[in-house]
Amino acid sequence: MFDQPSRAGTSKVVTSAKPMTPLGLEITARLKEMFHGFSNRMERNQQATLGPSEIGTPCDRRIAMSLMRLPPVNPGGDNWASFVGTMGHEGMSQMLEWADAGSGRYASELRMTSPSKRVPHGTTDLIDRVLLYVGDFKFMGQWSLDKLKTEGPSPTYRVQAHTYAFMASLRGETVKHVAILGMPRDKPNLDDMYVWTEPYNPQIARDALARVDRIGESVDAHLATLYGKAETNESESKVMTAAQFPIDAADCRFCPFHKPNSSNLEWGCNGRN
Ligand code: SF4
Repeated sequence: MFDQPSRAGTSKVVTSAKPMTPLGLEITARLKEMFHGFSNRMERNQQATLGPSEIGTPCDRRIAMSLMRLPPVNPGGDNWASFVGTMGHEGMSQMLEWADAGSGRYASELRMTSPSKRVPHGTTDLIDRVLLYVGDFKFMGQWSLDKLKTEGPSPTYRVQAHTYAFMASLRGETVKHVAILGMPRDKPNLDDMYVWTEPYNPQIARDALARVDRIGESVDAHLATLYGKAETNESESKVMTAAQFPIDAADCRFCPFHKPNSSNLEWGCNGRN
């Protein structure tokens, strides 16, 4: 049983799918295997430093674990949704380049830097130099899009948008607003597109970067007390350090370190203290 979008964009439950032929099953298996290999090597999955998309999480422990580069244990399904998002970003970038046509109005996929050594880079999706906003595309399923419409963006998205705007303004761009560009991933048209905006506030970015620095300094101090002790190796020291940080479980299901029911932080965080 699976959901199939109807022409109107609503989901219709299909109860009598015909089984795939042996060839269909073989093609499915090979393409899935190819997809896993390809998506695992994509740059967006291989960031070596903390990025603006990670720093707005309400969970201090998640930031500490990211800073220590602990290995992710929650790959987020098979990466299909993020792959569709990444390809959507590439398509939108091509569209913006076409729309810009050398005028300089639009900048897309602009690599930027920040003064923070722990969050040194960011790549913004869109700068519009006429409407003076920095925009971030989100390719959203219905649940997330409805949440954006009714409650506004999560702290993670909001901080991300302001941090991109902060980095853009540091490189001389005039930025008055930030925008989350909610694109309906599951719909056959853009009728349901929803754009959330608010005035740019650099203090949101400064506070977020300062928080990462505070957590980073605390991580370094914890590790310094543990390294060199004969009874703890590097991995154990990092896990013991991570355990020192308070948690906020609001976004655990999107956390790379989330392992429900884990009884040992070394295997993953169960989202409880
Ligand atoms: S699983 Fe939840 S509580 Fe644990 S680090 Fe991730 S976001 Fe924080």
